[in-house]
Amino acid sequence: MKIAVIGFGAAAIGFIERIKNEEHQIVVFEKSKDIYSSSISGIRADGKLFVSSEMGGEMFIDMALQKKLVDFYIANTEDNHVETGKSFSNSNYYKKFYEKGFMPITSDFYHIGTDQLKMVLYNIYEDFKSHHNIQFRFEQNIENVIINSNKIFVNGLDEAFDKVVVAVGRSGHKLVSSILKDHPEMILDNTKVDLGIRYEVPDHVVDELNKEMYEFKVKYKSKTGYMVRTFCNNPSGFVVTENYDDFVTVNGHAKMKEKSKNTNFAILVTIQLTEPFNDPMGYGSHIAKLSNLLAGKGKVILQTYDHFKNSKRTKNLYRVQPTLHNCKYILGDVNLAFPRRIIESIVDFIENLETVIPGIASPDNLVYAPEIKFYSNLIDNSKLDNLKVIGDCSGQTRSIIYATAHGYLMAESFLGK
Ligand SMILES: Cc1cc2nc3c(=O)[nH]c(=O)nc-3n(C[C@H](O)[C@H](O)[C@H](O)COP(=O)(O)OP(=O)(O)OC[C@H]3O[C@@H](n4cnc5c(N)ncnc54)[C@H](O)[C@@H]3O)c2cc1C
Repeated sequence: MKIAVIGFGAAAIGFIERIKNEEHQIVVFEKSKDIYSSSISGIRADGKLFVSSEMGGEMFIDMALQKKLVDFYIANTEDNHVETGKSFSNSNYYKKFYEKGFMPITSDFYHIGTDQLKMVLYNIYEDFKSHHNIQFRFEQNIENVIINSNKIFVNGLDEAFDKVVVAVGRSGHKLVSSILKDHPEMILDNTKVDLGIRYEVPDHVVDELNKEMYEFKVKYKSKTGYMVRTFCNNPSGFVVTENYDDFVTVNGHAKMKEKSKNTNFAILVTIQLTEPFNDPMGYGSHIAKLSNLLAGKGKVILQTYDHFKNSKRTKNLYRVQPTLHNCKYILGDVNLAFPRRIIESIVDFIENLETVIPGIASPDNLVYAPEIKFYSNLIDNSKLDNLKVIGDCSGQTRSIIYATAHGYLMAESFLGK
């Protein structure tokens, strides 16, 4: 079988790892310049690997397979050194949060760190490249996939494939949209978007919690009816901006060696609207653009928690100093850009969290906006035999391990396992 894999990220890695020793010909099309490019693959930032049945995607992934894939990534580090821990394995903590209305998310985590990830990706690539049946083609931005009876073609090239695996992550949404235009029957759902803030507090406020679990994940049904959740906790980490084609959002990461004095995490509100709404991407990006309009080109808004809560523009900071470089933010008021119901949900969440973690609602803690997590359209892979969509662009996964596992399982199904 001749198989085209579009994109070289976590999902493609899982797919190729499972199929590399079989006699199928694999051609990988990747839009980035080469393996060193800063735009290649989602496994470049942070590298927290989770084993959990409660987060990471919409599909069920067996815990043993998740752990096997974690071990695969760790085996590709320099010296197998990673930070590890468990979230909410301590029943006292579990109860403390549960009593206050939070839903604690349990998981095991393994943190590779941004600095080590480059090498992991490179080592995996070198191994794949050494297989005679695997060919990499860089600088190939695939814009269309055409099915012609039982053969399939990419970018109008003459070369025919028996199967195409689309693994383009979130950054490949244009290709997925073009495929869905031709095959709308593949869409299961497209109504969700997560909108919120990145919250930054001094390490000492959450020290005990960070020592206990490193990755602190809870969900909470706020008084507005919206579900609010924490995401991507970075002890002694850094806030960064993330560039989309036409707007900028905020994100966070942690490094293995360089440490700050602050912890940051996202607080996200899940917005799921009903008909006639069908453009969560449009909704989220309009709010992001409005925030950028207020902050100035390429910048995000920074505000103290007190001002965020009381809808006042921040002009000065007090005790907590931002880890985001000052050329990337403007002191302002997020209330001018976010709908009231989202702000109320976040404030309710933080005030309730204060009852479990004193100091989390201190007036001078920092709020950065916008932070957005888009959900891709949820794809039904049973509709077409020779075209499969895997990883984050399928809407089925949202993490490195789930995306890798999705690829791995797709390869198994190709092999009839
Ligand atoms: C800042 C940041 C930090 C994150 N940290 C973590 C974390 O710590 N732990 C965790 O579990 N998850 C994390 N994630 C999420 C994780 O990166 C993704 O869930 C995962 O990488 C998804 O894998 P994927 O293969 O679906 O897509 P990706 O890994 O994004 O790979 C897609 C690949 O396709 C290529 N591509 C896109 N379009 C085209 C095209 N048209 N033609 C050819 N090639 C194309 C891209 O260049 C890319 O190399 C993070 C995400 C971000 C943005």
